[in-house]
Amino acid sequence: MSVKENSDNTRTYDWKIDVPHATYLTSIVVGEYAAVEQNYDGIPVTTYVYPNQVAEGKVTAARMADMVKFFSEKTGVKYPYAKYAQTMTHYFNGGMENISATTMYDVMIHDARSDIDGTADSLESHELAHQWFGDYVTCRSWSDVWLNESFATYFQAMWDEHSLGRDDFLYADVKGNQDQYYQAWKRGQRRPVVTKNYSTPEAMFDTYAYPRGGAVLHMLRKTLGEDNWWRSINHYLTKYAHQPVETEQFRVAIEETTGQSMDWFFDEWLYKMGHPVFTVTQTYDPSSKMVTLKVKQDQKPDPTSLYPQASLFRMPVEIEIGNASGTHIEHAMIEAKEEQTFSFESDTEPLLVNFDYGSTIIKELNFEKTLPQLLYQFAHDDDPLGRISALNALSLKLKASDTEQSQKDTITKAITAALTGDKFWAVRRDSINVLSGSKDPNVRAALMTAIKDEKSAVRSRAVTALSATGDASLANVYLKSMDDQSYAVVRSAAVALGQTKDAAAYGALEKLAGQESWRDNVRSAGLSGLVPLGDKRALEDGFKFVTRGNPTSVRIPALQIIALMGKGDPRSYQAVAEAFEQSFAAGNFQMAIATGQALIALADPKGLDLIKSTRDKMTGNSQFKNILNQVESNLKDKIKENEGSIKQRAEHAASVKTGVSLRTPVHDHPSDSSPRERANDE
Ligand SMILES: [Zn+2]
Repeated sequence: MSVKENSDNTRTYDWKIDVPHATYLTSIVVGEYAAVEQNYDGIPVTTYVYPNQVAEGKVTAARMADMVKFFSEKTGVKYPYAKYAQTMTHYFNGGMENISATTMYDVMIHDARSDIDGTADSLESHELAHQWFGDYVTCRSWSDVWLNESFATYFQAMWDEHSLGRDDFLYADVKGNQDQYYQAWKRGQRRPVVTKNYSTPEAMFDTYAYPRGGAVLHMLRKTLGEDNWWRSINHYLTKYAHQPVETEQFRVAIEETTGQSMDWFFDEWLYKMGHPVFTVTQTYDPSSKMVTLKVKQDQKPDPTSLYPQASLFRMPVEIEIGNASGTHIEHAMIEAKEEQTFSFESDTEPLLVNFDYGSTIIKELNFEKTLPQLLYQFAHDDDPLGRISALNALSLKLKASDTEQSQKDTITKAITAALTGDKFWAVRRDSINVLSGSKDPNVRAALMTAIKDEKSAVRSRAVTALSATGDASLANVYLKSMDDQSYAVVRSAAVALGQTKDAAAYGALEKLAGQESWRDNVRSAGLSGLVPLGDKRALEDGFKFVTRGNPTSVRIPALQIIALMGKGDPRSYQAVAEAFEQSFAAGNFQMAIATGQALIALADPKGLDLIKSTRDKMTGNSQFKNILNQVESNLKDKIKENEGSIKQRAEHAASVKTGVSLRTPVHDHPSDSSPRERANDE
């Protein structure tokens, strides 16, 4: 309503929000900010960034107004508040959908080069979607938190579908959400999406509230069809505007809109836990020209769980059938039966049967296919997830000991063709993964093409796959890739170059290590290349960049350099010990692991006292205590090993270097270079 400048150098803001909303959505952020301003149909859309990050703020928030437009038009409910803003904050993780004023962590902001490898659209669209789902209508209790989180997760997915297209949507969102659920299920983390049986509110913000519920909404949209889905969403938002809601109210809103009873769907996928396990067998009768699929449901109840469990599933399914005369989709209804048979006409024996086209259904699928069927699906399936599943099956056959060499050659040829020829980048990249390290000259030729792929994720992986052959003559190729605009490619190329131990490597990597860039991405890449190079001259870089004030992505390779090349230098133990103490004091998990590994590698007995004093200072946190215990026991072994065989060690030192693995997950996924991967919210 007003901003008043006061005589004591302060400023008073008076803001009125005159719509009802949940108290947990109120926030005040105070700081010196610069505004990156956009506008959708009269509504200000503002991103508040640190004053020295305006250019990067513009890159990061580039599509915000388009997102507001997309969600407004699709839901039929125009963005419901006076303004939308997102504000960057430090010491905060992910995002929080405070009403008309989302709070974000500041590492979301990135430069144009980072944008090549991944945008922050996932996080930004997720938090924006909450303004409708979570803020405009909000869950009545945490039992129904999926009405907030699964909706934000799925609307974020639909933004991907709109902005990146169907293939990215299917791969990153539909498959991505399902895969996260399968992993949780395998870990034994099992519950229905909606339940009143939970220990703490925090426990509800898990895989089920986010990806599993998001995967259910995708099934719901496919089951209802586009028109019914969007009309139901509009009715639900309109009817319950500014109100708390329960899952049943969403179900009734669909029934009021479509006239369809959705009890069965909510029962199977939301109120009960589990998923179907389908075993499909395919036969063809040439006389009747009919292809028959026998579908069995093989899921078993989990005897250890007290949650309600779905036994047999009912669900519509799309089946893609392809033969020489073309490909079409059959629509069928899976009934809640142990076994069911579907028959479809086909002039010739089908070359392609894709049960569950687009992989809509949360399921496990056992569907044995012959090598010719897999090769055909991999080359011709219009569904990218069908091609990926064929690739995975082909990869298993390639690795199996009982596959004939001639078949392996055929498979290698098909995957080689796809790594440059498939129209979808993720299929090209996953194909490269399967053939990584192959010394086949045709594979090598294809990889030499793939390092120029339009997509940086493919280029980066192609460099790593070439490097896995151990062919040092490729040093010049990697040197050229180090000029790439993508930080991910620069990093892969730097590591690959270091591994060649080429004479030109030290100078080139040293140059990268000295280069200023956004969040020190280039420096981190250069240091990461100096690690496998093993040139003693890099030790000074190790000491220079291990110190506090450098980002974790720079300090970790610096530590590895000290651990590998710093033995015998009195500064080494001192530098590692300092970083070790700091990491535990600051609660930096990645650094705690990396400094622990460096301590073991140096094998200085003083390390044992350091571990003891660090443990004495610790309060609680078992995660960090576990690291300490492990480092202590490995360090003891290492010291004993050294004392026992000093002579032997001297002989092997040149080749072995260190007995511990110095690779950490951090090293492979530099946290600062990919905002998309970091986009986990709340
Ligand atoms: Zn959320």
